[in-house]
Amino acid sequence: MPSAYCRPDLHCHSTCSDGTLPPTELAHHAHAAGVDLWALTDHDTLAGQAAARAAACALGLAWVSGVEVSATWAERTIHIVGLGVDVQHAPLQQMLQAHRASRQPRARAMAQQLDALGIPDSYAGALRHVTHPDLLSRTHFARYLVECGRCRSVAEVFRHYLSAGNPGYVPPQWTSLTQVVAHIRAAGGIAVLAHPGRYRLTPQQEAALFDAFGAAGGQALEVATSTHSPSQVQHYAAVAQQRGWAASCGSDFHSPQESRHSLGQVPALPSRLQPVWSLLEQHIAA
Ligand code: AMP
Ligand code: MN
Ligand code: MN
Ligand code: MN
Repeated sequence: MPSAYCRPDLHCHSTCSDGTLPPTELAHHAHAAGVDLWALTDHDTLAGQAAARAAACALGLAWVSGVEVSATWAERTIHIVGLGVDVQHAPLQQMLQAHRASRQPRARAMAQQLDALGIPDSYAGALRHVTHPDLLSRTHFARYLVECGRCRSVAEVFRHYLSAGNPGYVPPQWTSLTQVVAHIRAAGGIAVLAHPGRYRLTPQQEAALFDAFGAAGGQALEVATSTHSPSQVQHYAAVAQQRGWAASCGSDFHSPQESRHSLGQVPALPSRLQPVWSLLEQHIAA
């Protein structure tokens, strides 16, 4: 195993959650884009891991298992990426199963709210965009609202309807951040706090989130991701260093049509940081 990777991408989504490419196709895209270490990190599911691993191994692409788990902290949703988890670990699978089950009533409630706003049939409409029906997400609703001409883009749907504070937003109840980190660690994985720049927190709130994540056993921060500006990369690099955390990087790629950055298009991690893959040596398949 090389000790350094030139183009790692440790965060992306397939049709097993809210991406538009199947795991096997994603592996080919990653390989073609020059990615040399890859993890598929679907929301709240491990359904794509076996196919991702098989495709990566056939291509000679180094692969590590991954999942992006939804977590609740201070009444907000925080995403925790688990890398190198044992995909057979029963307690982890049970937590993810409970998350998927809770998506059904939430989706029904979202559809009711959209109905009241004069947008009928969004539950059935969103379902048409889903490959795995138990993983109904806001992204699938957004795609339906674009399809029926209500908004011009997925981003616009989130701005007007589906993000917190908008009509159409139903606050979810995920497992607590502390429990999510504990499950990832119990499954042998490394917990990575995903895209910290996306949570719109004050500096005090951000410090409290980092305290909670560290106290729970979190070991890495996603310093480089497609939505972080260069100054955010520098800011979170400093946080990782101060807290003694490893650094991760990933495109958070969802779709060739919707994602501004393709697989592998992630700013480089500042070289002074400890890369998360140095903690994953036993878990990487090549
Ligand atoms: P859910 O897990 O159902 O709450 O959906 C969360 C997903 O919605 C995220 O993983 C993103 O893919 C997508 N999402 C959230 N906010 C936005 C946004 N502002 N623009 C585009 N997609 C978003
Ligand atoms: Mn997503
Ligand atoms: Mn996320
Ligand atoms: Mn993601």
